Amino acid sequence: MEVLRSETEIKTNKNIFKRDFEIFDTINPGMVFVVAIFHVLAFYQLVLVYNGDFAWRFFIYQVVVSIAIGLSITAGAHRLWSHRSYKANLPLRILLMTLNTMTFQGPLYTWTRWHRQHHKFSDTDGDPHNARRGFFYSHIGWVILYDHQKFLRNSAGQIKTADLEADGVVMWQNRNYVWWTGFLLIAQIMLPLTLGLETSVVRIISAISFGVCVNVFAAGSVNSFAHIWGHRPYDRSILPSQNAWVSLLALEFFYFIGWASDLKTASGELVAKRAERTGDGSYDAHNGK
Ligand SMILES: [Zn+2]
Repeated sequence: MEVLRSETEIKTNKNIFKRDFEIFDTINPGMVFVVAIFHVLAFYQLVLVYNGDFAWRFFIYQVVVSIAIGLSITAGAHRLWSHRSYKANLPLRILLMTLNTMTFQGPLYTWTRWHRQHHKFSDTDGDPHNARRGFFYSHIGWVILYDHQKFLRNSAGQIKTADLEADGVVMWQNRNYVWWTGFLLIAQIMLPLTLGLETSVVRIISAISFGVCVNVFAAGSVNSFAHIWGHRPYDRSILPSQNAWVSLLALEFFYFIGWASDLKTASGELVAKRAERTGDGSYDAHNGK
């Protein structure tokens, strides 16, 4: 969404770099509106749950769906596409891409490119959610403000994306993002209705919005809480990619059925060496030493 705007601006308006500080720190009203709508609906969901105005079977169903959607970020966008820490076959990539479209976090192609940029220019203005600009900016501010010019400049050609361009699943999602997002939203509303889990479309939409907000909050928290106050046992200068145990379990499952392969895990020795060299001293504490 915001992502597409930035790309379009780079392509269509070459003069953008001359207006260095004009659009930097300017609020993007469209994104404020989108973020606000999702939060109002999510808040309504909290009110419904507080009043006991919900069906347990739909509640449980929605929790499971939201966890699966969250996995598409940790196991999909992050581990598979951004860091290539394992290989996934076509059905697994289609599954993760589909779930990923339900996160409303933009196409995988952009998410991944931005994440690589975040690692490459970590905690500088070239980082899309530069943690040095404070908690609010790194948590959600970067979503509702126009991008920093240094970020846009570094986007243009500095990040390697050939592997993504060679991945038909990623490029298909990128081309069909808008209608595919709409189609999946309708499917997410129709499925619980058809299964008889819930009868109110408004309650379904507010539950979906709550799931989207929780997942965005989780992703934002890695950028803000973890970057600013988190333990960095392996390396003081970078954030270790700590994944939820659900993500690891899910990967183990897909590895077991043969859909995932070549799982890359840092060997214990390598981690310890790095911790000794650049860690903040909390590695031994974490490992009971
Ligand atoms: Zn990462």
